[in-house]
Amino acid sequence: MPRFYNTLTKKKEDFVPLVAGETTIYTCGPTVYNYAHIGNLRTYIFEDILVRTLRKHYKVTHVMNITDVGHLTSDCDTGEDKMEVSSKREGGISASELAKRYECKFFEDFNALNCMYPSFTPHATEHIREMIELIKILEKKGFTYKTSDGIYYDTSKFPSYGALAGKSHIEGLKAGSRIDFSGEKRHTSDFALWKFSPKDCKRQMEWPSPWGICFPGWHIECSAMSMKYLGDTLDIHCGGADHIAIHHTNEIAQSEAATGKPYVRMWIHGEFLILSSGKMSKSSGTFLTLDALRQKGYDPLDYRYLCLGAHYRTQLEFSFDSLDFAKNTLRNLKEKIALFKKQRDGVIKDARALENVKADFQACAEDDINTPKALSVLWDFIKSPAAAEDKLAFVKYADSFLGLSLMKEEAARGLPADAAALIAEREKARKNKDFITSDNLRAELEKMRIIVKDTPAGTEWSWK
Ligand code: AMP
Ligand code: ZN
Repeated sequence: MPRFYNTLTKKKEDFVPLVAGETTIYTCGPTVYNYAHIGNLRTYIFEDILVRTLRKHYKVTHVMNITDVGHLTSDCDTGEDKMEVSSKREGGISASELAKRYECKFFEDFNALNCMYPSFTPHATEHIREMIELIKILEKKGFTYKTSDGIYYDTSKFPSYGALAGKSHIEGLKAGSRIDFSGEKRHTSDFALWKFSPKDCKRQMEWPSPWGICFPGWHIECSAMSMKYLGDTLDIHCGGADHIAIHHTNEIAQSEAATGKPYVRMWIHGEFLILSSGKMSKSSGTFLTLDALRQKGYDPLDYRYLCLGAHYRTQLEFSFDSLDFAKNTLRNLKEKIALFKKQRDGVIKDARALENVKADFQACAEDDINTPKALSVLWDFIKSPAAAEDKLAFVKYADSFLGLSLMKEEAARGLPADAAALIAEREKARKNKDFITSDNLRAELEKMRIIVKDTPAGTEWSWK
């Protein structure tokens, strides 16, 4: 039986779904106002391993939302909508075009990292009606009040408010938010369910509601969409650790106040990826994208391997040295697999040992997604005297959890588009006998770990 660490109870627990044989999981999706950074992607990778592990036992319904409105630049319900700020920053492209652009980029990355596509990916802007209905219930039950800028949730009416984050977290939150405390809020931890559009300017995204022309708060979006697709009580809800103190704490308060039922049975949070210089932040612009790694010649799956080498509940400090190490280790693994493929004869030699090692591997995945330990089980078997056929059968099984495309041939890995452009530019320079430019471009390509060779038939390339 899988066991996971539940942020709510602060201990590892056996996972038993509400309905036998099936399970429901909601993962907070991207706010599509900019590229996802590799920190965000670390969270989606750990969630993907979790989904793959659950699929061994249950029919999984997985919902990941797309936040395309309502996420403000401050967690204290002040500041501007991130979507509207970016739409101005990007030369006036409409907020909905902006959302489409970055959602598309997000799914390119999600795909390249072999994350399995969720069962539903609802958009906040398409669930305004559900949010209004939820707020109407909260209003009827007396959990809301009105200020000059919106409809707020009164956290004092919800006795267990803050249980997810724990007392010290909530005290920290209160101390921090005092700086932004508007004065109209009854308590510092109260939060906006619905914000009135500003009187002095017209927002791009706003909707009529019983409270006037407004837009939703970020937290109500996740409550409305998760419960619409998965019911009032979900088995699992995930996100990054930054969501514990505010976003998920508020989701619990509003969902449970509305339904009178437990909202989530198991909360699972992933720790942050950090840079040696500090936090990676989308809004401050100090972040690395998957494209940036590709441009330097890394495969997205090198990054996935790097993430799997650390437990999801520990902070991971990113460095190019550790990415190089992950890349070389993954390549070494694939070379060994290629060799086993040459040695295979189609006959499993030791079925019992194979079943045992599969069970050991699965036990690691099911022990709170212990991917570092799972990888060591994989390597031990790879290096063992077991037969090539048995090793390949095990690799195939392990990869159904790891999602590293281990059985795919290395040659299938294509040339990144920007490298192709550099090669074309270099060919042009050579034709013009501009050998300085051509050598500079060769050096650029080498930085991306691509070696070029000039042949009578044109340029040939290979990975370094
Ligand atoms: P966002 O697009 O900002 O709403 O965030 C998407 C997901 O990434 C959420 O689950 C966040 O908790 C998570 N996240 C944000 N920053 C990081 C980071 N540096 N490392 C890991 N996860 C992160
Ligand atoms: Zn959310």
